Amino acid sequence: MKILIVEDEVKTGDFLQQGLREAGYNPDLARTGVDGLHLALTEEESYQLIILDVMLPGIDGWNLLQVLRLNGKQVPVLFLTARDQIEDRVKGLELGADDYLIKPFAFTELLARVRTLLRRTRSSTDATVLRVADLEIDLLKRSVTRAGQRIELTAKEFSLLLLFMQRQGEILPRALIASQVWDMNFDSDTNVIEVAIRRLRSKVDEPFFPKLIHTRRGMGYLLEDIQD
Ligand code: CA
Repeated sequence: MKILIVEDEVKTGDFLQQGLREAGYNPDLARTGVDGLHLALTEEESYQLIILDVMLPGIDGWNLLQVLRLNGKQVPVLFLTARDQIEDRVKGLELGADDYLIKPFAFTELLARVRTLLRRTRSSTDATVLRVADLEIDLLKRSVTRAGQRIELTAKEFSLLLLFMQRQGEILPRALIASQVWDMNFDSDTNVIEVAIRRLRSKVDEPFFPKLIHTRRGMGYLLEDIQD
């Protein structure tokens, strides 16, 4: 597991790097905000956690975190702050830090926080795959499988299925489907939704058992694993 430490105090940086290495992680150490930012943005195999000192020469921890988030980097960040001030912690959390630790700290405390943050990331990564019965949708790969078989969907069909899966068991009225998937106001003259649902069913339901997409006449549609 790759961890980036950004810490300008030589002793603290070395101590963190050594401790994390002994704990089985693969830590890189940057001694300035500029180097830290460069590593965080350019490393090919991305970091799973950044331990970030607030007070750094050049780019400080706040700025570094802001630039990371602006660049779409969602890596968890553990802030190290020397100042035991509530404003600092609030500011860090508002900027998108995931946790903070006040210096001086015991290494065992840091390790406990690191483990928690890494565990949290792993479970949220899993949440990019949604499942209902044997139907799976992978949000990162934008792929759909049922009973292990890959199913090719158009972009609209994918959005439609995603909506159903995110709100499984809920009856979704046509107007809601129209606004969420087609970004349009529902017009009862159009049968675009019926057509799309028929196509989706022919791909994800008809060749399989049980049927997952159900019609509730006069109310809408729902996706649910109802075996009765
Ligand atoms: Ca510092």
